[in-house]
Amino acid sequence: MQDIRALGLLVLGTLAGTACAADPSSLITADGIRADVSALAADSMEGRAPGTPGEARAVAYISAQFKAIGLEPAAGDSYALPFELLGMKKNDERSTIAITGPGGPLPITNDVTFTYWSTAGEATVDLRNVPIVFVGYGVEAPEYEWDDYKGADVAGKVLLFLNNDPPVEENGQALFGGPARTYYGRWTYKFEQAAKHGAAGAIVIHTTQSASYPFSVVGNTGSRENWDRTYDLDLLAWVDSTSSERVARAMGTTLTGLFDMAKRRDFSPKPTGFRLTTHIETTIHPVETSNVAGVLRGSDPTLAAQNIVFTAHYDHLGVNPAIPGDDKIFNGAWDNASGTASIMNIAKAFVAAKPRRSIMFVAVAAEEGGTLGSAAFVEHAPIPLNQIVADFNVDMPQIFGVTHDVAAIGLDMSDLGTTFKEVAEKEGLRATGDPNPNAGSFYRSDQVNFAKMGVPSLYLQAGTDYVTPLTFDPAAYEEQHYHQVSDELLPEWNFEGTVRDMRVLFKTALRVANADAQPRWVPGNEFESTWKALYGKQ
Ligand SMILES: [Zn+2]
Repeated sequence: MQDIRALGLLVLGTLAGTACAADPSSLITADGIRADVSALAADSMEGRAPGTPGEARAVAYISAQFKAIGLEPAAGDSYALPFELLGMKKNDERSTIAITGPGGPLPITNDVTFTYWSTAGEATVDLRNVPIVFVGYGVEAPEYEWDDYKGADVAGKVLLFLNNDPPVEENGQALFGGPARTYYGRWTYKFEQAAKHGAAGAIVIHTTQSASYPFSVVGNTGSRENWDRTYDLDLLAWVDSTSSERVARAMGTTLTGLFDMAKRRDFSPKPTGFRLTTHIETTIHPVETSNVAGVLRGSDPTLAAQNIVFTAHYDHLGVNPAIPGDDKIFNGAWDNASGTASIMNIAKAFVAAKPRRSIMFVAVAAEEGGTLGSAAFVEHAPIPLNQIVADFNVDMPQIFGVTHDVAAIGLDMSDLGTTFKEVAEKEGLRATGDPNPNAGSFYRSDQVNFAKMGVPSLYLQAGTDYVTPLTFDPAAYEEQHYHQVSDELLPEWNFEGTVRDMRVLFKTALRVANADAQPRWVPGNEFESTWKALYGKQ
């Protein structure tokens, strides 16, 4: 590996001085991407799980590559930006919960009708007789002039939320995203809202329709290991629809009645008449991990203070000795050694392109535990957050061949999508958006943590209209290898499509990096008001 890399750098040096000054995107090559995927997905990296020796080797490899490419550490003298994660696992035998209201206690079957846990980071949490308040969808959305709290003081209470967005139509138009879920509809948002309002806990009402999956998908969350997120609450829970119906009846309505009540603009929080008592014991398991960040300083003395960020998660699922068969290693070649390799190769092109703005490349940790590395990155950013003006994220890019189309999630949300479309068109390609908007994919990878802070972001996706004959059926390949030990680099992978898509992404980001104005969300977007506050814009 060492020899091949040295040779690659020699070639890079020669090209940079000659032909590549004209087209830096030609520095993004199939051989370059393949070499990095091969290194990161090797068995010696042991599946790159947070806190493992394999992960440390991945961090060392990425740091060495960043240095060889010509990036500086984003902060201090190390590319690694360490942070601590807390794994939290409730002790089921030693934890109890009781909810009582008009007519007596609510029947609870743990992990069947109700599941609960704590993210307080405390070994023991006790709540006694805490009132439960129904807060509807619990949404505060200034751009829609929507506020479910109406100034109510809900601190110290347990908040009961509906999942999803308020299904509101005004003047024949969906007020929120319509069938496309907005961030306000995500259950993570509900827990964040509860924490923001100083609540003791949050319970989300599950219905199959509002969640788009059955209760069994979330039903044992409380007995799994949960990682610290952007919310710490003494109590988090999901309740099933049958139990929710009982609560609604005791409030003098029905579950449908609660949904009807909550979709009104004049909704305000309602006491349920129920009180909650719980004792939760949690085993806390701290893990040290690192994001890896390198930066290329911009050429414009003023604009260099603004950074365009590329993110790709390098972590994967590690090793599981309990797996039957000889192979126990989750190599994560596609997920997401391929994305990490892609942004490292985009970095080579940027070094040659000398952009006006600075470009920061961040290989993020702990995505598989719930985009935790990118959350930690924005929370403790190595530079002030308002000096980051865009994020481009790559997670499981094209590996099957060249397509007539290129796709991006967030295509219609910001200037980044507009520029992406322009570049694609110039290359004779069709730019398409999220193939499945109701799945809320925008909210499920690392770019969402930037978006939530106000930073415009775009998440590259593989096109589906293939020019090249396929060795693999992409859907069947995903079905067979996604999150399996068999996600390994194969000689048949076709990196021509990866290269083409990364050149489109590079050219998009280069335009953004050289533009006079920084990118912004389209007017009325859910992240626009946060964007204005972050950058002090109107
Ligand atoms: Zn994954």
